[in-house]
Formats: sequence, C-alpha cells, structure tokens
Amino acid sequence: MSGPGFTANEGRSGFNKSGLTAVFRVDNQTRAFHFECRIMKAWVLEKPAPVESGPLALTDIPVPQPADDEVLVKVHACGICRTDLHVVEGELPIRKSKLIPGHQVVGRVSAVGSLVDEFKKGDRVGVAWLNRTCGICELCVAGKENLCERAMFTGWTVDGGYAEFAVAPASFTYRLPDGFDDVQAAPLLCAGIIGYRCLRLTGIEKSDWSRAKLGLYGFGAAGHVCIQLARARGAEVYVCTRDRQRHQVLARELGAAWVGDASADPPALLDASIIFAPAGELIPPALKTLKQGGTLVLGGIHMSPIPGFDYSLIYGERIIRSVANNTRADGREFLIEAARIPIRTHTQVFAFSEVNEALIALKTDAIRGAAVLNIVP
Ligand SMILES: [Zn+2]
Ligand SMILES: [Zn+2]
Repeated sequence: MSGPGFTANEGRSGFNKSGLTAVFRVDNQTRAFHFECRIMKAWVLEKPAPVESGPLALTDIPVPQPADDEVLVKVHACGICRTDLHVVEGELPIRKSKLIPGHQVVGRVSAVGSLVDEFKKGDRVGVAWLNRTCGICELCVAGKENLCERAMFTGWTVDGGYAEFAVAPASFTYRLPDGFDDVQAAPLLCAGIIGYRCLRLTGIEKSDWSRAKLGLYGFGAAGHVCIQLARARGAEVYVCTRDRQRHQVLARELGAAWVGDASADPPALLDASIIFAPAGELIPPALKTLKQGGTLVLGGIHMSPIPGFDYSLIYGERIIRSVANNTRADGREFLIEAARIPIRTHTQVFAFSEVNEALIALKTDAIRGAAVLNIVP
C-alpha cells in the first residue's frame, strides 16, 4: 500500500459514501491527496438459517487491520468444514454478529502487527479453528489449550476465511509445507488436524499401529485424510458410510480393507473406531464391533442425540470420548506427518461466488473428499 513517494502521512478519513472505511495518503512530491478504500468482499452471516435459503451474503466491508500480535492474510483458499454448516444453520450458538465463517484458511501474509517477528510479508500460512487461547488458565498451562474456556475460534467467535482477507494471531498461524498447493492444503487445517487428534485419542501406541484394526464412521473430509494417516502407519481400516457413490468408492480407492453402509457390522472386531458423522445413532452399532478395552472417538463438534443402549455394549472397559478442538502441537505434528507420507487431499473446488452452493453440497453428502473455496484462482 505504500508506494514510492508515500510516507506516514496516512490516516483514516472516516467513511466514503458507502459508509465504508477509507484511508487518505499524501504524495510527498506532488502534495496530492489520494483516497484509497481498503474494502474487501466477504461472505457475511446475518442470521443463521438453513443453507438452502442462502443465509450468507456477499458484502463489501473494510479490510481488517492486524493487531500488534496478528498477521493480515490475503486469503487464497478456504476449506469448507461441516462445522461451518453447523454455524451457518445455527446448530452452534451465535457467538458473533455479522460473522464471516471459515476456519481452514490458506494465504499469504500481507501485513504484520508491530510485535510479530516470526512471519513477514509474502510468507505462505494457514489459519485454523483454534484462533487464540488465554495462555494462563489451568488447562492452557497443562498443555490442554484446546479446552481453554476463554478460547476464540476462527469463523465462529471471530471472523474467518470466507473473505479476501483475514487476521489471525501470529502464534496460532501455521507455516505450510511446500508439497501442497493452496487448495490441497486447505482441508489439512481442520479435517486433517482433527483426524490426526482423533487417531491420537484412540490410545493406540505407535508400535501397535501396524497390527491395529480401525473403524471410521462417516467418510467426508476428515475421514479421507484420517484413512491415509492410519494406512501409512500400517493399520487395517474399516469404513462405514451411507454414501455409496462418492464416499464408499473413495474409501476403497484409499485402501480400506472393507467398506459398508453407515451402521453395518464390519467383519472384524476393531481396536478403535472414530465417528466423524454427526449421528448419535451410530454409537451403539460402533460399540458392538469394538474390542474389549477399545476406544470409540467422537470427532464432531455437534452430534444428534445418542439413543439409550445396553450396558453390555460398553462393558469390558470400552471407552467413549469426544474430541474438542486441537492444540497447536497437534497441528504442527500433523503437518509434518502429512508432508512426509505425503497425504493427498481430494478436493472439490468451488469459486468464491459459490459458497452457498458448496454448503448445500456438503449438507447433502455431494462432496467427494473436501470442499474448498478457491478465492484467488
Ligand atoms: Zn486458557
Ligand atoms: Zn472444521
């Protein structure tokens, strides 16, 4: 923004005629005033509603300014996650009015706050769901920052990446491995990291993965990354998913040992299973095929009510545990493992103008792999 001849004679002018923020700059040589509107396009949620009614509106708003500890990111691509659907449709409570959703943000640093020294303009970065934590509570100090009660979340409590620009704290921003282009990298930032954490919470030790039998229920964005991690570690993976055309076919392509319908019985007892589908009714059938001492991990932020079931299904020291967010360590470790394997994300790309269409496709299981908005094609 600061071309030759322009200096610190720059300030906020107030509002242009659209009511939007503008800045003026003075050319030191000609003394001419230049007005510059730092306006961007963003998809804004006024009020949660079913995606079929198009609740997101493409809006001109001021480009956000990074705080001292933040980076401003020019967004190139943003993954579309099922959590975005829960936010847009109101299954998660509203935490910010006029919200910009999106928490799998890939782009280039466009400006940095005064305290930021780990990034510079032009660096390629990713911004994920965990936006900021307090850093001082009992949970943060114990390394469980994913559970911090004062945590902020990208695209839910603060604006996210369905926009041309986004800001994020530098210390919660990731450097991205070179092997992934912007679109391929986007689904790593939530679907990938959450799948990684789910695998960790199965409790299967590193040395046992090569003998492990793992069940996956639901095979969307997270499932298709998770199976690649598990297969690379040597596990046999059994996939239950209702979508035969896309999800079952992709699961076979990615090396599933067996593929069946949503609540089908895999032909083996499993050491651990992960439910990615937001369907509480899958818990009893998933427990039925879990070995004694096995863990059932629930990977979603929202789930429909869980039906009652006999104690015998969980007896035998079976464990059910949810996954809530992720730590930054999860993110960094996952990105290293993803680059080493390397993970190949399967993406269905939507233009920036097609956000509502993309969310409808996600809702109707019409995505193969992960949906991604290509904002700078
Ligand atoms: Zn905290
Ligand atoms: Zn997500």
